[in-house]
Amino acid sequence: MTIISKTFPAAALIDGQWVTSARTFPVTDPATGAEVAAVPDLGAEDAARAIDAAARALPAWSAKTAKERAAILKRWFELVTAETESLAQLMTTEQGKPLAESRAEVAYGASFIEWFAEEGKRAYGRTIPTTVGSKRYLTIKQPIGVVAAIAPWNFPIAMITRKVAPALASGCTIVVKPAEETPLCALAIAKLALDAGLPPGVLNIVTTADAPAVGKVFCEDGRVRKLSFTGSTEVGKILYRQCADTVKKLTLELGGNAPLLVFDDADLDRAVAGAIASKYRNAGQTCVCANRVLVQSGIYDRFAAALVGAVTKLVVGPGMAAGTNIGPLINHAAIAKVETLVGDAVKKGAKILIGGGLDNSGPLFYRPSVIGEVTPDMEIVREEIFGPVAALVRFDTEADAIKLANDTPFGLAAYLFSQNLSRAWRVAEKLDAGMVGVNEGIFSNEVVPFGGVKESGLGREGAAEGLDEYLEIKYICLGAIDA
Ligand code: ADP
Repeated sequence: MTIISKTFPAAALIDGQWVTSARTFPVTDPATGAEVAAVPDLGAEDAARAIDAAARALPAWSAKTAKERAAILKRWFELVTAETESLAQLMTTEQGKPLAESRAEVAYGASFIEWFAEEGKRAYGRTIPTTVGSKRYLTIKQPIGVVAAIAPWNFPIAMITRKVAPALASGCTIVVKPAEETPLCALAIAKLALDAGLPPGVLNIVTTADAPAVGKVFCEDGRVRKLSFTGSTEVGKILYRQCADTVKKLTLELGGNAPLLVFDDADLDRAVAGAIASKYRNAGQTCVCANRVLVQSGIYDRFAAALVGAVTKLVVGPGMAAGTNIGPLINHAAIAKVETLVGDAVKKGAKILIGGGLDNSGPLFYRPSVIGEVTPDMEIVREEIFGPVAALVRFDTEADAIKLANDTPFGLAAYLFSQNLSRAWRVAEKLDAGMVGVNEGIFSNEVVPFGGVKESGLGREGAAEGLDEYLEIKYICLGAIDA
């Protein structure tokens, strides 16, 4: 409570004003279950007011030069970076991840602000060689307009800056709905944006416990020209449908079911390190977490033993405790889902190699687990686990591995471990995924395009592609050049 009340607001932000409400909802610490703050529970009318504010702020903000906007974003980046420790503590308090991971996320989140401050200056158009002597063709890129964003709880800062920074850098104004589990980080970084000199209405934060009502307003308001969403495929599909009537541009970062392929010719230590990094970060609660570990028969036993050995060393506990590797899951529903998936796998013949149940640190702590002899008929390889459980599936040939890997409607991340360059390249090309880590378990940063194919989403975040998501291309034809 001290961190929140002393430094950062627990009020929504509309038109530069901190908004309170008689109706609030609690934010709890998943490690302890304690209430850490009460946040305004705003509704559809407040969401519309926030859009009004963003629409009013749009002409002046979009008329600034990219360099003027960059100066404010750079200050914002510096303020966020200066507050790394207090933001990290706030994040661990409301989200649960180990403090070291929270600090890393503050840096990761801030990196988008810095990158897009710079990249905003490079929204280049083109001149196109003419086909008619009297005409000249060119394109310019212009901000799309008012943007709405809906964010998840697993990366409470980075998933917001990855949307807000490119929107603001390109000259758009934005209304953000943070996840109800983690609104405090969103409000904290919004305060720092105001401190950095962001004009009222350019960034608005609508906190609510009624996401469908606020989401509907975002989707149906014709002034909102773009919606950027990170969350489940199920909700992404609802939003996609709701945006049809106003034909909004969409960025959707949805669920994944990442395969991690370990071939017989992999470097065993590297493959284990990659699997640990990809699977157990944020207690397995990332959309790029390895969801299925596909292991070739020749290395299967050695890999399974080495992975279990590495998992034994992972320390479970509250994120605030020094040395913790695995914090709590976000809520009881998350625990119930993991228990159901593990139960189904065991019932169908899978073997628990380590873990496989709750840790005694508290009701939301699940032990880091490895489940062996998993087969494609088990729910655990069809559903996103979102918990610290590695499911090992055995395969024989490269063709089998690719078939298994692509046998899913999702296509966000994929990983492969092989020392054979030809195989690595060949398989990377064949995987249905927006991102492939080759001999690497962690690949996301601000300079590369993040996103998925198939039902994992639309569009890309980060990199130059992430700026284009907030820009429209206008083609201008200059006629009568010969007059
Ligand atoms: P998760 O199950 O990981 O929480 P969700 O897709 O439910 O994933 O949540 C991601 C974000 O979407 C959160 O901010 C949540 O409040 C929001 N959300 C959930 N349902 C809806 C909805 N019907 N309309 C708009 N936003 C929604």
